[in-house]
Amino acid sequence: MVTILEVLPLVAITALFGGAVGSFAGVVACRGLRHSLVGHSRCDSCAHTLGWYELVPLVSFVTLRARCTSCGSKIGFGVYVWELAGASIALAAVVPLVVAFGATA
Ligand SMILES: [Zn+2]
Repeated sequence: MVTILEVLPLVAITALFGGAVGSFAGVVACRGLRHSLVGHSRCDSCAHTLGWYELVPLVSFVTLRARCTSCGSKIGFGVYVWELAGASIALAAVVPLVVAFGATA
């Protein structure tokens, strides 16, 4: 028997991983694969290279209030939607497994 608290880290890691995959899929959809694989992530407005704290899927968009830390330009909500979609798909794959293994409250 596995408790919810024991599987919470797995669920959080799954959401972050899915969010990262979703974010990358969004970048590929917007910029194309060739431009997505070159260099570091940058702000579309000021070309500021994003730090790790600006790249945490699902979390950074909210904590940065959808604004670039360098120039303050607004980050499109579409980025968050891609991350949310990726996290949702990953969780939809993992949560049934957690339930099947008998996670209880
Ligand atoms: Zn910027």
